[in-house]
Amino acid sequence: MILGKYSFGIGDRFSHQGKPQLAALIKAKEQGLDITPVWNKSHREHTIIGTTHADTRKEADDAVAAYGWDRPYLVDADHIGLNNVDEFIASSDFFTLDVADYIGKKAQEADVKSFVQKYKKYTGTLAIDGIDKTFDISEEQITAIADKSLTAVKQAGRIYRHITAAKGADNFITEVSMDETDQPQTPAEMFFILAAIADEGIPAQTIAPKFTGRFNKGVDYVGDVSGFTKEFEEDVAVVAFAVKEFGLPKNLKLSIHSGSDKFSIYAPIANALKKFDAGLHIKTAGTTWLEELIGLAMGGGDGLSIAKEAYTKAMSRMGELCGPYESVIDIDTTKLPSAQEVDKWNGERFASALRHDQSCEHYNPDLRQLLHVGYKVAAEMGTRFFDALDKYEDIIAQNVTENIYARHIKPLFLK
Ligand SMILES: [Zn+2]
Repeated sequence: MILGKYSFGIGDRFSHQGKPQLAALIKAKEQGLDITPVWNKSHREHTIIGTTHADTRKEADDAVAAYGWDRPYLVDADHIGLNNVDEFIASSDFFTLDVADYIGKKAQEADVKSFVQKYKKYTGTLAIDGIDKTFDISEEQITAIADKSLTAVKQAGRIYRHITAAKGADNFITEVSMDETDQPQTPAEMFFILAAIADEGIPAQTIAPKFTGRFNKGVDYVGDVSGFTKEFEEDVAVVAFAVKEFGLPKNLKLSIHSGSDKFSIYAPIANALKKFDAGLHIKTAGTTWLEELIGLAMGGGDGLSIAKEAYTKAMSRMGELCGPYESVIDIDTTKLPSAQEVDKWNGERFASALRHDQSCEHYNPDLRQLLHVGYKVAAEMGTRFFDALDKYEDIIAQNVTENIYARHIKPLFLK
């Protein structure tokens, strides 16, 4: 299976918005742009909500059938490891092997030695096409990278072979993710990690590094944009170089996790893709649920009541809801409106606080992050919440499609 040049991860907490999500990609297709939709969901999300990956598969299949989508589409077992991959195997054809927990675990000395032996030909000055500067690579540096990464890559190999044994090698796409770790990987580090991935026989088609700066859930990038631009371009160039050097799949490309709403880096990313004629996978999981809340609020009546109730409950259970996402949110609690204040809002006021429109004076990124991680509260409302999603389906769908198409696909791929 070969993943197309551009692909878009459309995670959906409650598996209700497959059709309006796909509608955004149909709009892109009408503009001549081919983007493969990938419905992704992690074990963490399924556990919090009480869904299974078969629900995600059904959502994708139903949306595709409803709209007669005749292009490829995929279902991604997002951030899986050996301990939970089995529950994803039947329903997935895209696997994101998460080995972040193994990064930094000291590798076997013999493995490090043979890795250094094999790759010490890159010591000295390393020039990579498309990057102005050169890299000074030392044997110590390769040793340090091997020491820190080989255990993780070998673990990825174990997961990959486990999936292969169950599904057959040609029946799925492999991503290796290292984004949920403390330290970003430098371009040089990524180069040698890709070497190790090739050695392990993993035909990775996407790789998700951790970039510098904050990729907080549902809000804009926080960090030095020019530094990110340089790093991203170097990573793109390194990927292209590694493909040639190590015989990795020709379509190997970067995958950006927590990629939704990073508006300030979309132009640099779009420029880099053009400059290097590179592909991209971007995961935007989670924000569709916020569009559901916006639609409910705009719908008024009991829709608005549910949106307000979600906020009130999220406020009172902040610690519990934020816990699993601690490293990917930054909420200034002093900027959160009180539940009493929110209760006075009309639907438009609620929607304008939550909608990611930085030009709007009411937009509140702290409220947005809290609600982003607050989906468990809606899951607990059960049928009441799902009935409201059905009742306000039209206005929710408009918001879901508009968010993906206008705020994400357009600036990334159509500028
Ligand atoms: Zn991730």
